[in-house]
This record gives sequence, structure tokens and C-alpha cells, in this order.
Amino acid sequence: MELKIGNIPATKLAQKYGTPLYVYDEANMTNIMKDYRDNLKSNKYETLVLFASKAFACMEMYKLINKNGLGSDVVSGGELYAALKCGIDPKNIYFHGNNKTEDEINLGILSGVNFVADSLDEAMMLDRISTKLEKDINVLFRLNVGVEAHTHKFIVTAHVDSKFGMLIDSNDLKESINIVNNSKYLHLAGFHSHIGSQIFEVDGFYAAIDKLVSYLKNFDKKLTLNIGGGFGVHYTDEDHPIAPKEIAKMISKYVDSSLEKNNVEISKLVIEPGRSIVAESGYTLYTIGNIKQTPHKKYYFIDGGMADNIRPALYQAKYDAVVANRIDDEKTEDICLAGKCCESGDIIIENIKMAKAKRGDIVCVFTTGAYGYSMSSHYNKALTPAVVFVNGDKARTVIKRETYEDLYRNDVSEDYERI
Ligand SMILES: *Cc1c(COP(=O)(O)O)cnc(C)c1O
Repeated sequence: MELKIGNIPATKLAQKYGTPLYVYDEANMTNIMKDYRDNLKSNKYETLVLFASKAFACMEMYKLINKNGLGSDVVSGGELYAALKCGIDPKNIYFHGNNKTEDEINLGILSGVNFVADSLDEAMMLDRISTKLEKDINVLFRLNVGVEAHTHKFIVTAHVDSKFGMLIDSNDLKESINIVNNSKYLHLAGFHSHIGSQIFEVDGFYAAIDKLVSYLKNFDKKLTLNIGGGFGVHYTDEDHPIAPKEIAKMISKYVDSSLEKNNVEISKLVIEPGRSIVAESGYTLYTIGNIKQTPHKKYYFIDGGMADNIRPALYQAKYDAVVANRIDDEKTEDICLAGKCCESGDIIIENIKMAKAKRGDIVCVFTTGAYGYSMSSHYNKALTPAVVFVNGDKARTVIKRETYEDLYRNDVSEDYERI
């Protein structure tokens, strides 16, 4: 038996495109997007699924989400640029971020996207810039609803001193809303919360929905309720995620009941899954180089590491992996799967049972589709790997492997000038 991605043996992909290699199963991503889109439904309000594009931002991904009827959440000018370039309707783009720059705000306003404002300072800035440009903007506010979702502490966002959002009972929020109400160009469109990431229980979302909905009682106008993302995925067998289809159904049903209970109406419900659309559709293939036995450990060294996947070092994230060309062999070895960067923390999996392998064997790490490529770096001047999409028995490159020239293309040797 062979490990296949789509219908293609992983070893064949490694051979054709080289390693390290990010591989995405396009059919799987498409199914998940459809599952979210078709099951977040109500006859009382519109619904919209946004891909939280920071999880995996590249041109082909923006095109794919557009093709499948999703919008995009963006958190920077760089993401916004690509979302617009790939034809996503600005009405379906939501611009997040706690410190958008003047340039980013200009670009966002001129292109007509929705803003999710994070602070009083930002509300003032949006007022000033929209007045200068004489352009209307829809503004949502990110609220800190104080719900701490059960997840790893580094990725929890909603404590009172969080850098994100404003507290519901804060003066900053009241003043921000006043600014919008008194502005010619700003229009209050709704409220947003995002309670964390890699969440497996729906209770946190339900609590956030109740807080937001009861807050909406303060407004006469029907507004947008955007409850963010954070739906968990399977990295290892310790993770038990709820299927996207079920999540979407549970959320729309709960929102319906919360609206009824509070006697509130909304115009639109928005969710923003990032990780859960791409994580499990992504695989990283590596080639094993040196193998080393120390007194208490056996290392398989791979030709990538923290430069293409920082999550283990950053969050102690756990992964599962196999030797792709030996998946029928018994897993007899206790292995530390380590990268090639000059950091002792450059370890992808601290301790995993793997088949006995040799130099040149191919390792496949699972569930690397979210926050892998998008958080990659050039540390040690690592070349960013190629990204390949697979659909059935076909494959195509969507991001080329970097070359050494690419690495230094912005380096210059200018003469000093007096400034
Ligand atoms: C990161 C983020 C998301 C997506 O989170 P996932 O865990 O990838 O689903 C959604 N909304 C906002 C505002 C975010 O910052």
C-alpha cells in the first residue's frame, strides 16, 4: 500500500516536485467550503462564510474561495491586495486587524471593503480618512466578549486585557459608536467577536453569540453578526473536531434561538473559518537525510523544519507523521523528527513511533495546511518550499519553489547619500 494524496502517491509528488513540499488536496478544501456554505442557513437573515485568509494566503487560494462562493477576511494590505486581485467582491471582504496603517485604510476605503474596527483610535482614524476621501464605509466593531475558549493559552484572545477588540461595557466602545453615528461617511454595519482558535466545544461560541445578541438589543437597525472562526481540526488522535457541516448547522440554529429569545433581528450572519478549511487538506513532504542515535533519542533529520512549520516551536503544536514509502512497515522506532535549522527548538515532532527508515525516504507530516506556509520564514536562508494542489490524479504547482536568486532579489549595494 502507498500513502496517497488525492489519488497520487506521496512519493511520486516528492519525486516530481522535490522536497520539502507543501501539498493541498483541492477537492477536500472544496468540499469543506461547500459544507460551511450550504449549512450556514436561515430564512430570517443572509449568511456569509469568509475564509480567514491568514491561515493560507496565496493567489490560487483566493481564487478557489471566490469560485466556491466564500468571501475573505483579511488582516493586512498584503492579503487585501491579493483578495481584490483574485476578484473577490469587496462587499464580501472584511478587513480586520488591531493596527491597520494609514496606507492600508486608504486602500481598504478606496476598494470598498467592510472594516472591522478594533479600537476608539481606529474609529477616529476611519472617520478622518473617509471624510478626506469622501467615501462611505461599512464599519463593524470587534468586541471582546470575555469568553475564553478552551484551547492552548497562547492562542486564546478574549481576556480583558486582550490586544483585540473593545469590552462591551467600555467607554471606548460607546464613544466609537458615537463617532460612527455622527459621521457622514461611516455606517454602523454590525459587531464581531473571535474567541480563539483550535476550539472543539461549541459552548464558547454559544456564550459569545448570546452576549453579542443581547448587546444588539441596544440598536434599532438590523445589523451583521460576525462570530469569527476558530473551529478545531484533527492534528493527532487526541483531537476530536466537530465536522464543518455540523458546526455550521449548530451555529445557525443557535443564532436563530438566541435571536428569538432576545427578540432581536439581524441582517446577516458571518463566520470566519480559517484553519478548518485548509489544515487537514495540507501535507508536508520531506526527505530524510542524516539519522542520528544519541544516548536517549533517535533522530530522523528532514530537509525542512521550523522555517516551513513554526507551530511546534511557537505553540508546542502536535503533529502526526509517517514514512510515506513504508506505511506497511511496523512502527518500531521511537523517533524525534527534527529539522535542519540551527536551533535546538527546531523539532517538528518530539516523540513519535515511526517505521525504520533510511536516508532518502520520504516523510509525510499531516495537517500542515493552516499556518504552515503562511507563517514560513527564511531563517537560515531556507528556500520557501513549492506549493502543489492535487485534484484526483492530477497535480499543479500554485507557488514555485524559491531559488537562491529569489532570496536575495531585494538586496542592494547602494552608496551612502546625505539625507
Ligand atoms: C485567525 C482569525 C480567524 C480564523 O481562525 P481559525 O482558527 O484559523 O479558524 C477568524 N477571524 C479572525 C478575526 C481571526 O483573527
